[in-house]
Amino acid sequence: MSDQPNLPFSSPVMPKMYDGDKVISFRCHKAIGCFNACCKSIDITLTPYDIIRLKNRLGVTSAQFLREYTVPFEFEKDGIAGVKLKSVEGGSACRFMTDEGCSVYEDRPTACRYYPVALVSMRKQDEYTDSDSYALVEESHCLGHQEDRSLTIDAYREEQGVKEYDELSRGWRQLILKKKSSGATIGKPSLRSRRFFFMACYDIDTFREFVRSDGFHSSFALPTAEYEALLVDEVALLQFGYRLLRQVMFGEESIEVVADARNAVQLKQQANYIAEEEAARPKVWHDYDPALEPVDL
Ligand code: SF4
Ligand code: SF4
Repeated sequence: MSDQPNLPFSSPVMPKMYDGDKVISFRCHKAIGCFNACCKSIDITLTPYDIIRLKNRLGVTSAQFLREYTVPFEFEKDGIAGVKLKSVEGGSACRFMTDEGCSVYEDRPTACRYYPVALVSMRKQDEYTDSDSYALVEESHCLGHQEDRSLTIDAYREEQGVKEYDELSRGWRQLILKKKSSGATIGKPSLRSRRFFFMACYDIDTFREFVRSDGFHSSFALPTAEYEALLVDEVALLQFGYRLLRQVMFGEESIEVVADARNAVQLKQQANYIAEEEAARPKVWHDYDPALEPVDL
């Protein structure tokens, strides 16, 4: 049994890990010689909550945001998808970078808030409980490490407002970690599951339409007050999506299934599985179109 690290960046070796009380020396400010250097070459994985903040900031739907501002990728071969922030056309700089700094600063993604710290989530095989550690990313172009200011990683997280971001994407990180560590037992998720994961985690406006749909009502029974809250509260809807995914992907039932639907749903899933896998073979996630037909269960 081994711990499964979920690194927010690619690294051939396991970085040195720290707890939140680790003291670091760092300050970033507009007058620093390297101002904006870190935004000129980006590799930023977006969390579900990052997407909600950014699409609302830009006044677009989640599907429009995904198409216009992101590139999908797979966390592991044939696995579930993530999305990265798309850089400027023909370059590596962030599209939100301006001479004055970040144009979406109040809604900047988790990874930007954390930098030069990185959150590394770990979990034991077949467990949901994850534990957080931190890595320090020391890149030569970043002069902030030479500034005369010491603070703990916990204090830096507080200053950068990452706690809310971490909390609201915890369910997503746990799903990825569980999938990674139980891959051999659970097997490759079906195309339907992978699409469903993509919609519930990243395409919140389409997911809301799904929750409104007859397909949802004929499959799941929710108390009226809880159901109505989902339609007006994106954060509640996102958290519900994580619960639904745990049910769909790992059979952990926490949402009541309509009795008549139970057998029909299972039979339909099984009947579709083989055909979907065949249809999926030549497809890569970079072809993924959030406007594909609505996912039903
Ligand atoms: S979102 Fe803002 S902080 Fe993050 S890379 Fe882009 S410009 Fe920089
Ligand atoms: S100090 Fe580091 S984080 Fe701040 S602008 Fe420079 S490179 Fe970016």
